Amino acid sequence: MPALLTIPFDNAYARLPAQCFARVLPTPVANPALIRFNHGLAAELGIDVNGSTEAELAAVFAGNDIPAGADPLAMAYSGHQFGHLNPQLGDGRAILLGDVVDIHGQRRDIQLKGSGRTPFSRNGDGRSPLGPVLREYILCEAMHALGVPTTRALAAVNSGEWVYREGREPGAVFTRVAASHIRVGTFQYFALRRDHETLQQLADHVIERHYPHIDLNSSDKYRQLFAAICKNQAQLIAQWMQLGVIHGVMNTDNMTVSGETIDYGPCAFMDAYHPDTVFSSIDRQGRYAYANQPAIGQWNLARLAEALLPLIHSDEKTAVAQATEILQEYPRWQQDTWLQHMAEKLGFSSVQESDQALIEQVLHLLEQGRLDYSLFFRRLSHCTQAGDNRGQLLALLQLPECRPTAALEQQLNAWLDTWQQQLTQRGDSHSAAQRMQAKNPAVIPRNHRVAEAIAAAEGGDYSVFERLLAALQQPYEERPEYAGFMQPPQPAEKVLKTFCGT
Ligand code: AMP
Ligand code: MG
Ligand code: MG
Repeated sequence: MPALLTIPFDNAYARLPAQCFARVLPTPVANPALIRFNHGLAAELGIDVNGSTEAELAAVFAGNDIPAGADPLAMAYSGHQFGHLNPQLGDGRAILLGDVVDIHGQRRDIQLKGSGRTPFSRNGDGRSPLGPVLREYILCEAMHALGVPTTRALAAVNSGEWVYREGREPGAVFTRVAASHIRVGTFQYFALRRDHETLQQLADHVIERHYPHIDLNSSDKYRQLFAAICKNQAQLIAQWMQLGVIHGVMNTDNMTVSGETIDYGPCAFMDAYHPDTVFSSIDRQGRYAYANQPAIGQWNLARLAEALLPLIHSDEKTAVAQATEILQEYPRWQQDTWLQHMAEKLGFSSVQESDQALIEQVLHLLEQGRLDYSLFFRRLSHCTQAGDNRGQLLALLQLPECRPTAALEQQLNAWLDTWQQQLTQRGDSHSAAQRMQAKNPAVIPRNHRVAEAIAAAEGGDYSVFERLLAALQQPYEERPEYAGFMQPPQPAEKVLKTFCGT
């Protein structure tokens, strides 16, 4: 019987030149079983599940049944991994089923991840263990609920097969939805091969798809494109910073040109505040540490600039000058957006010049005391009026991993006085609490909770995963039933390492 499910595929990417991809079919898995299907997102994509059974959904989103209209392919790309150029990466364990135009008129990719080998698999098996599938599901949906541009989770399916990494792990397939999967590395791929014709067609596709305000007939459209991508990335990374997100593997093949967060392999949220925080087990030098992210963003964009130079201007010197000018603007774009977010976190209705110093002071105190980043700002939202709940905030210093000293407590109190005076002077005192509670999440996907959900699922219990996802759906609400998810880890609960999940 044919699948009842209908997906309104349009497949613009498959119409690009043949060197952009390799057509390849998913390799069926032994025993697909649906873990979760995101009905809300499916509706947004215009997918009609037509009362499909779980088994039918599992077969489609494991890659066993190919839905009508799909044109499965693996995308070609290069990338700088930890600073080293790899000219030949590409989708080694991901297959794009196709793209659709969603109900809002936005083109979106539907991609299976862990669906078998492709011409880009090199020595890999094309598969994905269950753990990374669940981590990506949790993290990307949490980021979406927090308001951060990100790829989304449409489905997760157990494969009924083992995959072999350090040891034997259950396998799974993840269905990812993205504005597109075009990366900095996709441009690098054609630039490295000096295929300027394809480079140009790719750039035009990106303009039409992600930056329709740029006039395709304009003579400096590629300079404008580069500036628009830099702006989006500056804003995206500012969002990660204000939320305490550590992406973990900011290789140029993991940076989209749309400005969405992609590739959650080792991604984690920081508990105790420290700029040097790293979770990823393979990031031994801390290249992708929390505080390095804005600068790494600029480094990656410089690699994009190199790839785009032949399009930006026919005279190389002019092209370099134009790209450099934009790259030099990036830190300011980054910083300005970050400052806006941080001022809002502090309850201010607008940004003032003095806010920068006020923010830096408090971050310095958080660092000294190893205070929990998210909980500090959440509790701060209950302290907007003099005397209010300050005790509860300062009680954070009693958490096991904190380093309380009398001096620190005094400095924090002094900072709180200054901050409250600022709120009063600016007429923000009364509206601050509400503003802060819409900005400072109560629930974030804490790493020990993510690890706990994965461990339970590996043992066959998905209820912990489901509950965590439910808690993360309204991250700005303090709901008593999810109070446990707001707390930082106890020393015995801490999970300090994450893995890439390849
Ligand atoms: P990532 O670290 O997920 O960004 O992946 C880097 C590159 O390795 C990409 O080209 C992936 O497609 C490829 N890759 C990762 N895991 C596998 C795997 N299990 N099989 C084949 N290719 C893989
Ligand atoms: Mg990747
Ligand atoms: Mg990855």
